[in-house]
Amino acid sequence: MKNIAVIGSGTMGNGIAHVFAQFGYPVALIDISADALAKALGVIEKNLDRQVKKEILTEEDKQNILKRITTFTKTEQGVENADLVIEAATENPQIKAVIFKNLDALCPAHTILASNTSSISITQIASATARPDRVIGMHFMNPVPVMKLVEVIRGYATSDETTRAVMSLTEKLEKTPVEVNDYPGFIANRILMPMINEAIYALFEGVAGVEEIDNVMKLGMAHPMGPLHLADFIGLDVCKSILEVMYHGFGNPKYAPCPLLVNMVNAGHLGAKTGKGFYEYQGKEMKVAARFC
Ligand code: NAD
Repeated sequence: MKNIAVIGSGTMGNGIAHVFAQFGYPVALIDISADALAKALGVIEKNLDRQVKKEILTEEDKQNILKRITTFTKTEQGVENADLVIEAATENPQIKAVIFKNLDALCPAHTILASNTSSISITQIASATARPDRVIGMHFMNPVPVMKLVEVIRGYATSDETTRAVMSLTEKLEKTPVEVNDYPGFIANRILMPMINEAIYALFEGVAGVEEIDNVMKLGMAHPMGPLHLADFIGLDVCKSILEVMYHGFGNPKYAPCPLLVNMVNAGHLGAKTGKGFYEYQGKEMKVAARFC
């Protein structure tokens, strides 16, 4: 696989484009929003500067990596030569179905279509195409340039050949692929989200405060970040929607999002991205938010 296209240039899309370009692949970065593309290039440059400062890359490497990324607002312009397309657009099944139907019509027959979805069924996404054997999940972790894991999700019809190609490509990015089957939440979120939800329940029931809950998990379990801080980092809307996918997918009430999480999302307190969640964020400063009800 040589030419890579990434659909969606938000938090995950810009990180995925960064990593492929860093390992020498030409990348077409596609978004419906020209503003999102401009912002993505700014973020990539800032993250590359950090790698230069840490002497992981040279200034010349940085310039070459940036040259490998081309941006497009029209999908048809970016995917015509793609060997692999990775979709990292908004987590919404209808949006993804339209994107995959479109990609199936626009891409060469050999192109593998991957989704970075956190929770939506790969089998369902693949059903929007006439090539379900060449549709797969490539679930990168945030922040993409730093995190080593890629969960590789095999849909019901994904072929051995597609799985092998994606596993081997992931290793070329110096990341570790882990193959999992296509059931709600896959592995990462099936285990992480119930832990985060339980931490929110502990706060909701008054068992302990925000910092106390986070400190127990950081100091007692050696987690680098407490579960409430991590939920703010992921986005509380994202956590709620992943829990809902598992709740409906398994038909099991143990995955139902805590009412406090639902209230916070309805109030627009989505975590770090809105400046307010379990903590309040101002620049690099953070403090526990004033009130939870
Ligand atoms: P985001 O909201 O930061 O970015 C989504 C981008 O997709 C936006 O720039 C939007 O303009 C663009 N977009 C929407 N519809 C599009 C279309 N039809 N064509 C092209 N671009 C389109 O979202 P994100 O946090 O980067 O998440 C992207 C995907 O990655 C989701 O499926 C999410 O579940 C998954 N994911 C997110 C995280 C995380 O920590 N944020 C971690 C792992 C996986």
